[in-house]
Amino acid sequence: MKQGRVKEYQMKINKTLLIALFSLLASTLYAQNAAKYVFLFIGDGMGDNAIYATELYKKTLEEPLALEPMAMNQLSVQSFMVTSSANSLQTDSAAGGTAIATGVKTTNKVLAMDTTLQFNLETVGEKAKKAGYKVGILSSVAIDHATPAAFYAHNKSRHAYDEIALQLLTSNFDYFAGGGVHNLGNIKDKKSFAYQLDKSEYRYLTSAEEIKNLKKGDEKIVAVNPGTYSGIEYYWEIDKPKESLSLAYMTKKGIELLDNEKGFFMMVEGGKIDWALHSNDLGSSIQETLALDDAVKVALDFYNSHKDETLIIVTADHETGGLILGSSTSKGLRMDLYQHQKISEQEFERKLDVLKKLKRKVSFEEVLDSVATNFGLGSGIKELELTDLEKEWLQVTYKKEFIKGQEINPDRDYLDQSSDKNFTERVIIIMSQKTGVAWPTTDHTAARVPVKAIGVGEDYFKTSIDNTEVHDIILKVMGIPNNK
Ligand SMILES: [Zn+2]
Repeated sequence: MKQGRVKEYQMKINKTLLIALFSLLASTLYAQNAAKYVFLFIGDGMGDNAIYATELYKKTLEEPLALEPMAMNQLSVQSFMVTSSANSLQTDSAAGGTAIATGVKTTNKVLAMDTTLQFNLETVGEKAKKAGYKVGILSSVAIDHATPAAFYAHNKSRHAYDEIALQLLTSNFDYFAGGGVHNLGNIKDKKSFAYQLDKSEYRYLTSAEEIKNLKKGDEKIVAVNPGTYSGIEYYWEIDKPKESLSLAYMTKKGIELLDNEKGFFMMVEGGKIDWALHSNDLGSSIQETLALDDAVKVALDFYNSHKDETLIIVTADHETGGLILGSSTSKGLRMDLYQHQKISEQEFERKLDVLKKLKRKVSFEEVLDSVATNFGLGSGIKELELTDLEKEWLQVTYKKEFIKGQEINPDRDYLDQSSDKNFTERVIIIMSQKTGVAWPTTDHTAARVPVKAIGVGEDYFKTSIDNTEVHDIILKVMGIPNNK
């Protein structure tokens, strides 16, 4: 080798060595800063006012509950996030979940696929799994529902529940928990979830005992809360039966199962906050938000003993209901009055349906009694007294729904308003008026949502972000290449 060539060769080696040394240094630095544990909490539809209403409500509870601010409000960074999808400023949960999970905006109703529906978008869960982390996906609604599905499934329709559920079984994720799948199907049918589950490594657990007995190292688990409607979604927090396992419990169990040398990524969704807000049922939304907050508290406790290696993010996929706190018709905001609401809008509707099916005639007084017992309206509490006009307004619907053939046409402006509303919806409207809240819509809005964070990489959330940035930030702090 000629001397010039030798020199060139040595320089090349030096350069290679230098690059190797530099990347080693960079990866060491990266590793030092990397988050080993990442929790992502998504309150579906949980706008800032839904959280603030919950905080105000909590302050009216008895001590010691009243003294401690909500866990999510204790996170050190409190910022905002834009939630638009590729085709609308008002995203749905599928596109909202996709943006958060994949860092790419897609069309409403689409799960982790691009807008041309040609390509699957790899999710943060899939990337974390490939990088050696354990992955958990939790929700209080069906585990094949839009938000959780956006982290493991790829489908042009969020409603293709059977296909989505099968993708859960091929996800290779370690822990699914909360609600079950929509259709277990027939185990003899090769295309069914039941058949494929049987052939897979996953265990589908539906009893509290089985779930409580799970131990560190147990993998490929689908833990379905025994307190669910038909094995699908959680009972409303406000109505939940004793056997129900909370989202907080499932989160705690998740930490136990997923903890390992490499670390984990866990997404926890409070799915029924959105459903309550769609019904403009703030009393139920408050309880669902508190349940999610209890799960955040579990993560915060974990963070306190793993401060240098944990990141907690709390956000929402969009706002629902356009909740207004302090409406012009109210005498002031009274979140404390929700302590008298003992039932969800949906469960009250069910109760009324039972009454409607009775063979005997159910009197208006009897229905009003039920309103008093379940909402405190007309029960003697001063602020919740029903005016004659309100009673009349309820009676119109009572007659329509309970006494066939006695339907009367409302002849006053007040009665004409919301004439499409049924009895339960009217009770909820009156409740909102008494507590001082108002709702311009029962749908999603384009409002920015809160994003809250604490731990490794929390600074990335200090400025208002786009929903696509959550994915990018998580990968950055976990030290996973972002090849989107
Ligand atoms: Zn949603």
